[in-house]
Amino acid sequence: MLDKTVTDWQAAAAELNIDGRAYINGKLTAALSGETRPCINPASGEKLADVANCGAEDADLAVRYAREAFDKGTWAAMAPADRKRVLVRWAELIEEHAEEIALLECLDAGKPIADTTGVDVPSAVRTIRWSGEAIDKVYDEISPTGPDSLALVQRLPLGVVTAIVPWNFPLSTTAWKLAPSLATGNSVILKPASNTPLSALRIATLATEAGLPDGVLHVLPGPGGSLGRHLATHMDIDGLTFTGSTPIGKQLMEYSGQSNLKRVFLELGGKSPNIVFADANLKKAADMAAAAVFYNGGQTCTAGTRLIVESSIKDEFMEMVVESSKHWVPGNPLDPATRMGPMIDKSQFETVAEYVDIGRKEGAELLFGGGQVLRESGGYYHEPTIFAGVSNDMRIAQEEIFGPVLSALTFTSVEQAIEIANDSIYGLAGAVWSNNINTAHKVAAAIRVGTMGINNYFGGDITVPFGGFKQSGNGRDKSMHAFNDYTELKTTWIEFD
Ligand code: NAP
Repeated sequence: MLDKTVTDWQAAAAELNIDGRAYINGKLTAALSGETRPCINPASGEKLADVANCGAEDADLAVRYAREAFDKGTWAAMAPADRKRVLVRWAELIEEHAEEIALLECLDAGKPIADTTGVDVPSAVRTIRWSGEAIDKVYDEISPTGPDSLALVQRLPLGVVTAIVPWNFPLSTTAWKLAPSLATGNSVILKPASNTPLSALRIATLATEAGLPDGVLHVLPGPGGSLGRHLATHMDIDGLTFTGSTPIGKQLMEYSGQSNLKRVFLELGGKSPNIVFADANLKKAADMAAAAVFYNGGQTCTAGTRLIVESSIKDEFMEMVVESSKHWVPGNPLDPATRMGPMIDKSQFETVAEYVDIGRKEGAELLFGGGQVLRESGGYYHEPTIFAGVSNDMRIAQEEIFGPVLSALTFTSVEQAIEIANDSIYGLAGAVWSNNINTAHKVAAAIRVGTMGINNYFGGDITVPFGGFKQSGNGRDKSMHAFNDYTELKTTWIEFD
């Protein structure tokens, strides 16, 4: 894969045979209405495939199959070691088809091929393999009762779970949801984002090949506002796991209250602080400040969009960040040299452009970028963009833009850095850069976020939980903690004569 050129990838893309049908009960199948919608390559605006446009009737059918499989225990009652075998085999099959899946993800989401081959597919494989390998090492509990009783505390699967995921990390978020929910024995119905259904559909077929019984996993592409809402209000779905925006997350909680109080776990938006002290390794911090916001075109929930710099170094440091940002040139995602692709669609591009305009009107100083590039491509590419002189009450410092826009602020004391960083409705991630362990640790401990880096950004792997404080959500993806979101605790109390 590593030695492929842009021409090789273009040739492979031309050969791809994409099947956009839904995946229900172990088979690729058309939507019951027969409706399809075009799936567009964001890099070129060209159609990749016609994808099933599922509705309520497809959801009801999938729920019936999922419930039947759960009640029969074809998967839920399987020994954890047997579920492990299937999940590990599934991970192997994804690995065997890595090139094809990475290409699908690149074409569907506009993510650079270097990222889909180097990050997205390996991360999905690792997630599924890790959860599979972990599940037969999870013990339940016996509580410390007196000698006349025995109390068992068991983790049981929720039952039928629906997972609704976004377009920015389609494969990774799908794996983060499917691996622990399936490992714990649930039946699952996944609704991918309308923009990016292809990798989930492909890996679902591989799950069946790996031995996952029919009825346990379904993938229904379709609109969030109708299909997603129907799933979220369904009376026979026990759990909902979601990654997406904070406004939709709030709606999902309401839907749960309006229907059957299904368990709801949310991974939502962010406006993450990246704090740089004068005593840090400034070159490394500057390179990572650019990567933290421009990776995936800024379409990353954990993007380090608020750069909070010690006032004494602001000019020197911002020059270094601008220099580093010049390496984030938008380009064709099929070119292995490309680091940043297009915005996912016209509407997302327009949102970004609107925020750049807002930043200018709010009086921030545009240091770098700010416009559209590669217009002739048919895609919507936005330049990496940097604003300095931002104050934390500006909209560009408070609202999630979800594009390549960095807002730089300054501070003069540790306390002020902490105050600015915490002055946000979000609490997903952040980082602090300092060579003083006391400063670094004091700041890291005080920032109210789910993941904090010290002298790194984007640190973490499958062994640690991932999720947010405040309006960045609840619940946790990844690690053994993810199993909590997909299980109920049940006590059985035994009394001896
Ligand atoms: P979004 O608009 O909230 O959509 C996410 C998913 O929800 C999509 O599948 C969407 O379907 C569906 N949906 C939309 N309206 C719905 C409704 N009323 N009921 C049920 N489902 C509905 O988010 P996005 O624009 O795809 O993704 C970007 C957001 O995700 C950002 O805010 C980002 O920070 C967040 N995110 C968070 C994490 C994390 O782990 N914390 C990770 C990645 C992304 P359609 O596609 O059909 O609209």
